Amino acid sequence: SENNSNNFIHNIIDKDIEEGTYGGKVYTRFPPEPNGYLHIGHAKSICLNFSTAQKYGGKCNLRYDDTNPVKEDVEYVDSIEEDVKWLGFTWEKRLWASNYFDTMYKAAIELINKGKAYVDDLTPEQMREYRGTLKEPGKESHCRNQSVEENLSLFEDMRAGKFADGERVLRAKIDMASPNINLRDPIIYRIAHIEHHNTGNKWCIYPMYDFAHPIEDAIEGITHSICTLEFEDHRPLYEWVLNEVGFWPHPPKQIEFARLNLTNTVMSKRLLKGLVDDGVVDGWDDPRMPTIAGLRRRGYTPEAIREFCEEIGVAKSNSTIEVAMLEHCVRTDLQNRVESRNVVEDPIKVVITNYPEGQSEMVEIENNRNVPEMGSRKVPFSREIYVDGADFMEEPVKKYFRLFPGNEVRVKGAYFVKCESVVKNDDGSIKELHCTYDPATKSGEGFEGRKVKGTIHFVDAATAIKIRIRNYNYLMIDDENGNQVLNPDSVVDTWGYAEPSLAEAKPGERFQFFRHGYYIADSELTTDTEKVFNRIVDLKSSWKP
Ligand code: ATP
Ligand code: MG
Ligand code: MG
Repeated sequence: SENNSNNFIHNIIDKDIEEGTYGGKVYTRFPPEPNGYLHIGHAKSICLNFSTAQKYGGKCNLRYDDTNPVKEDVEYVDSIEEDVKWLGFTWEKRLWASNYFDTMYKAAIELINKGKAYVDDLTPEQMREYRGTLKEPGKESHCRNQSVEENLSLFEDMRAGKFADGERVLRAKIDMASPNINLRDPIIYRIAHIEHHNTGNKWCIYPMYDFAHPIEDAIEGITHSICTLEFEDHRPLYEWVLNEVGFWPHPPKQIEFARLNLTNTVMSKRLLKGLVDDGVVDGWDDPRMPTIAGLRRRGYTPEAIREFCEEIGVAKSNSTIEVAMLEHCVRTDLQNRVESRNVVEDPIKVVITNYPEGQSEMVEIENNRNVPEMGSRKVPFSREIYVDGADFMEEPVKKYFRLFPGNEVRVKGAYFVKCESVVKNDDGSIKELHCTYDPATKSGEGFEGRKVKGTIHFVDAATAIKIRIRNYNYLMIDDENGNQVLNPDSVVDTWGYAEPSLAEAKPGERFQFFRHGYYIADSELTTDTEKVFNRIVDLKSSWKP
């Protein structure tokens, strides 16, 4: 394996392999709490854990971190599994942390027996006050020096349901003067008379995350337990638990990395759930959502997301990545593999007055200008076509090379066409443009007589189909005070005329709409008769690699 890669986690693993710490093994896990859909931040963690295992020929578990007895939803579990698979990863085992409750309970008893845990009756307010501050040591509880027998009996009473929620807790007996506040006798078990989705009413006491997580990792033989930076200060507690409850030969190692933050993006399941519950978006898979389900429906590819996660690397300090970089990754992924199609928005009708009435022809257009092997297709062309609203200006601005009265442009795949006059409706709006074409300029026939500066695309009026187009913008934008607020224009629902081949578009099929952007036929709304396209990303990049 290569040393000193830019991935500091891999450097740690390289060293462990060199020193034989885990017998050369690498075993990671991705541990979601099944309380929402996964987002792009989770994708970072998934890619990191699964790819790291892959790189070293190791394994990675999918483990539901369900020690918190909140109502877990099958919908979430199903979505998590679908998302991990869609990203292209396969777990070694699918496990539930709640299946380890017996072991955790035994570990707690062991701590009590060793004089390393005690049952406390301080109120939450007292507990907070006794904890002290960064500057002041904490104060010991009057329960701290209870006998082992007393603690065993009280803990048994907790387990038996003799106390109400919050009346007692089990605390690790570590050090009330520790400079690390997490080590000032942290709570390791609490009472919660709540039914658990897996264990039902078997338990009314539940382990706290900092106590449960190291045990979960150790039970599964995890070697490298990768988590986000907020847990750095918890690492001494992670190690304390493994050391005190020492029934495993090679305790796992916790490694922290900086969580992913993205501009214009909400990155919290709780806040995302709020958007869903309040009907701000159309469900967890709304194409504006940064959930994996949303990105998938939006048209992102797993390759683009994996490439993005690889590209941003693994950092040790928090930062915010430009969302434009994610867009760059999908644009780069699609540019050489999807076919282009002609679609016009805000269509303007063009009548080519010197083109014979009743006649039409098929003209040839390449499917992907970067990839000649992708071939070409024939599209109809005739006397009446539509051009894009953005491709005509009655009074052109400087350096405008597209259509305006008196100007000649190339109509891509067809001919040079010149705008002769603008025909108006009674209300002054444009009815149509009257143009002429030059038959000598047919594309592919090598006309050299004169040059034009602009090329525009078209759709044949007689055969065009109407499609629905949803142009997405950022869900969140910054207001003038730099606060993230909802973008009132996060979706522009519009329509356009498309070349007839798009009538065959299947849900989930992607295209470049020539000169517009990359689009996907919406997986939910596209039918045989109605075509709804989501803009994945526009063609221009504001992000430079
Ligand atoms: P959220 O705060 O959005 O609810 P979470 O951390 O509570 O996220 P979990 O289900 O506990 O959600 O996360 C599973 C794993 O994904 C954890 O290991 C967590 O560290 C990681 N993770 C969550 N968000 C990010 C992020 N933004 N960047 C990197 N990893 C993340
Ligand atoms: Mg969590
Ligand atoms: Mg959370």
